[in-house]
Amino acid sequence: MPTRPCWAEIRIRDLEENYRFLAGLAAPHAELLAIVKANAYGHSLALCAPAVVRAGAHWLGVTSVEEGIVARALCPDARVLAIGGVFPGQAGAAVDYRLTPVAWESWQLDDLVGAARAAGARASSLPVHLEIDTGMSRQGVSPSALGAVFAHFGPGSPLRLEGVMTHLFAADEADERVTEEQLTRLDDAMGRISAAGLFAEWLNVGNSAALLAGQARAIAELAARHGMKALLRPGLALYGLVPRFDPAFAPGEEPASLLQARAALKPVLAWKARIVGVHTVPAGATVGYNGTFVAAEPMRLALVAAGYADGLDRCLGNRFSVLVHGERAPIVGRISMDQTVLDVTEIAGVQAGDEVVLLGAQGNDAISAFDLADASATIPWEVFTRIGARVARIQA
Ligand SMILES: *Cc1c(COP(=O)(O)O)cnc(C)c1O
Repeated sequence: MPTRPCWAEIRIRDLEENYRFLAGLAAPHAELLAIVKANAYGHSLALCAPAVVRAGAHWLGVTSVEEGIVARALCPDARVLAIGGVFPGQAGAAVDYRLTPVAWESWQLDDLVGAARAAGARASSLPVHLEIDTGMSRQGVSPSALGAVFAHFGPGSPLRLEGVMTHLFAADEADERVTEEQLTRLDDAMGRISAAGLFAEWLNVGNSAALLAGQARAIAELAARHGMKALLRPGLALYGLVPRFDPAFAPGEEPASLLQARAALKPVLAWKARIVGVHTVPAGATVGYNGTFVAAEPMRLALVAAGYADGLDRCLGNRFSVLVHGERAPIVGRISMDQTVLDVTEIAGVQAGDEVVLLGAQGNDAISAFDLADASATIPWEVFTRIGARVARIQA
């Protein structure tokens, strides 16, 4: 049976090309870990994880152990990093499914040691990426508290310190001072780690903005100073969006990698729905809950099978237009849970069954995730991840 007509088309070929382009930007300095967390930013882990692996990815980054279990079934040979850490009771599954946990709390490391021993793991056999808090104050151990962590990696421990990770929280600022400070703190933390006699193979740092701003080289140089290799973690750029820099680079000072990315990256997701029916209403007709829109003259209104339960932000009612026949059709009245009404008075020939583009291209026009995000005062990451679970993701 066909579903209610509200769906997302995922262009897998474009995702693969985006991955290859980004891997080319990182090379020869760094390798990439493809961020497929949060159901591949709403693009479908099931479609996207195998695609990036086909395109050459050896590493996947998921939110949680439970997402990692799904990724493991899809990609038996990939390295799967659980970037949100292990939660109580999850260490055994992390071991069983050969996930690579990010950890920073002593209790997480204790749990992992216990689970690895229970599984009969040999010394140094369970790879762990240790997250360092270099200034974001989110997750990670502060460099001054590293001493308490080292004991978990001592001789005979089943854990292997495979990676040292940090998150750059201002990589999308053209002014690189904050990032430089974070890298300095990371350098210091690496010094403490090697002074404790520990060695990690990978320095795991940097998102899409860091990669497109050309930071791969600086990160790789830092890694090389400690005998490590660099791993960067792009997410948004994989899905074809170029992050905005704020403050922006001065005209003429944009890094070459950013200019190339603008030309090369292709948006992977298009969000569509169909028109249920079209009706003419007289002047004075009210539209939607609370009648927040009143027709000033006779109008043609189209009902669309998409609402806020599909992820269309309710605040877009009376404030945004979507594409019908390649033209902008204003959303009139409040968006309902499952339905939205469009003004198609000015668009000829609209009828039931016609395709509506909520996000993506139609004719000569396109709505980007930035357009939707700007209209609802958020960011493309949130636009993508709130597209509802009931919206079918279809390979295109
Ligand atoms: C989500 C995430 C990324 C990817 O960020 P983008 O800006 O989408 O490239 C990288 N690293 C960590 C730790 C993340 O949580």
